[in-house]
Amino acid sequence: MLRLSACLLPLLAVQAAAADAPAEAAPEQLAALHLEWLDRSVDPGRDFFQFANGGWLKSNPIPAAYSSWGVDQILAQQNQDFIHSLLESAAQDSAAAPGSEERKIGDFYASGMDEAGIEKAGIEPLRAELQRIADLQLRADLSSELAHLQAIGVDALFGLDQMQDFKDSSQVIGVAMQGGLGLPDRDYYLKQDAKFTKIRAEYLRHLARSFILLGDDPAAAAREAHSVMAFETRLARASMPVEEERDPHAIYHPMEREALQRAAPAIDWPGYFEALGHPELQRINLAMPQFFAAASREMQRTPLTEWRSYLRWHLAEEFSPYLSKAFVDEAFNLTKVLRGNQEQLPRWRRVANAEDHVLGFAVGHLYVQKKFPPEAKRQVLEILHGIRAALQQDLSGVPWMSQATRAKALDKLALIEERIGYPEVWRDYGALQVDRGPYVLNLMRANAYESARELAKIGKPVDRSDWDMVPQEVNAYYDPSMNNINFPAGILQPPYFDPKAAAAVNYGAIGAVIGHEITHGFDDEGSQFDGHGNLVNWWTDTDTQRFQAGVDCIARQFSQYTVDGGLHVKGKLVTGEAIADLGGLLLALRAFAASPGADSAPVIGGYTPLQQLFIGYAHSWADLYRPELARELATADPHPLPEFRVNGTLANVPAFREAFKLAPDSPLLKPDACVIW
Ligand SMILES: [Zn+2]
Repeated sequence: MLRLSACLLPLLAVQAAAADAPAEAAPEQLAALHLEWLDRSVDPGRDFFQFANGGWLKSNPIPAAYSSWGVDQILAQQNQDFIHSLLESAAQDSAAAPGSEERKIGDFYASGMDEAGIEKAGIEPLRAELQRIADLQLRADLSSELAHLQAIGVDALFGLDQMQDFKDSSQVIGVAMQGGLGLPDRDYYLKQDAKFTKIRAEYLRHLARSFILLGDDPAAAAREAHSVMAFETRLARASMPVEEERDPHAIYHPMEREALQRAAPAIDWPGYFEALGHPELQRINLAMPQFFAAASREMQRTPLTEWRSYLRWHLAEEFSPYLSKAFVDEAFNLTKVLRGNQEQLPRWRRVANAEDHVLGFAVGHLYVQKKFPPEAKRQVLEILHGIRAALQQDLSGVPWMSQATRAKALDKLALIEERIGYPEVWRDYGALQVDRGPYVLNLMRANAYESARELAKIGKPVDRSDWDMVPQEVNAYYDPSMNNINFPAGILQPPYFDPKAAAAVNYGAIGAVIGHEITHGFDDEGSQFDGHGNLVNWWTDTDTQRFQAGVDCIARQFSQYTVDGGLHVKGKLVTGEAIADLGGLLLALRAFAASPGADSAPVIGGYTPLQQLFIGYAHSWADLYRPELARELATADPHPLPEFRVNGTLANVPAFREAFKLAPDSPLLKPDACVIW
């Protein structure tokens, strides 16, 4: 249709053209599109993130107690508000049977809310642990003390966990991972830019104040702070960069006892396993051999006095948030420096967060009984199956892929297991002792319980019923060794999934989330695992090269983005997530187009169904970060910031350009769009 009026904004042209579509939108669909979130003064072809979310961002400044604020945080807060009443009533219910989950939930909450009791106890609850460290007189005892501290949750030098063997996913083996840094990433110790340098100076002051709180005089505290800083800097230098950790081959070095002893000779491995309660452990994946070689050298050379300082600091680091006000405030000082929060969360929210960590599935069990209607599950499954079908069709038609690789890819897709809402088997907290205080001891016991639960899986058949996320969490995940996609009940709510919204909006939001998780099975990391979760190469060499060209394109694109005064995003760190975003959105588009009502979908508020889908997508990323947190995420987290997840993804989506009738030279578009799937 020819329009006579030339429009100022591309959007208006589309609104006029859309008048051809006769379907009527229901008022609740208009409400669920949230047009009030838009900032129409922004050109969608320049900055779609601002166009779609500018109105929302303006009226939702980051609250003082948060380092980021967005639709995900608000939903998480609503979930927590609901859980709050469960916790309160459990704490008041003295009739709950001793040992029952309800009793544990209530007792834990009561212990955390007992501010007066916590204040009165001061450092006392930590005494026994501090004494153990003070008693450490022999280098030979260091390994078992590390095991003990790690088990109660302290980030002492490294960590031991379980994993499915990358090359035989039916087996569970132990894995030793680097750790032991007090700052978020090795870059914080090693990079020379002004902001990192300033953070190091603040960290040093924080260390000194922490030692004073632990009872040392200022001169000793300053000395210890410097020693810890030097020690952690040596560890940082030996640590594998976070982007390399994404390569499963780089972190796969399974070995038997003898090889383990050779790789890190100063660690008393038999004593270490014994102290963890697993003297029988044989085969361990030493994920970062270089780090462990360096750790072993430290165990040989660093004086025990310095070791004691290091261990006391990490004990304080882990447990300060659960102690008296002086400790809580000092821990918060570091949070402020690293993430920019201005004030602390109300106590009940901090306790509820801890409770999610300690008894999350017990709380989640109560949560889903009230908050997860079967109808929501049915509708989400319908979208999920549409997304699966779209990927199947997609894989069948990728022009660059050989038949051999295609067949394997389709096999893998068919084997992806889908899990929605909550686990079928609820976690057993039976043996976990929870009481009304001291609060911090509840945390220690819970950490030890969780560590033992994980390590007990080693050598046993894989437990496929376990979930990595609690039901109330606003998130989702793909597990390459399980080859499953997981969507906790917490995220299956507006604005991700809204039963009142038009289908296009739901496809743009939860549809893209589902597509994101499925695509993880085929991103640069996931694609190295087959349908049974084994690390085997099912690609022909030519296909690998072609796929890699797309991956490199994404890495180059995201490397150009900067945060907090010019710090560049690590392209190689974020490729997996960026590929999943791109694949997820493309799948959502295709699944929507193939869905039953797509042809007659209504124009809403002047926006075509496709435009609604893109707006729904951007709305699911309405999120702002403080510069300090943006720096941390750009340094250490594989997820790009929401702004890049919207604009960077759309730059590679041709349908976006068409939907908004954008000029080909619109700044947001890439002339050389990256193509993956
Ligand atoms: Zn992801």
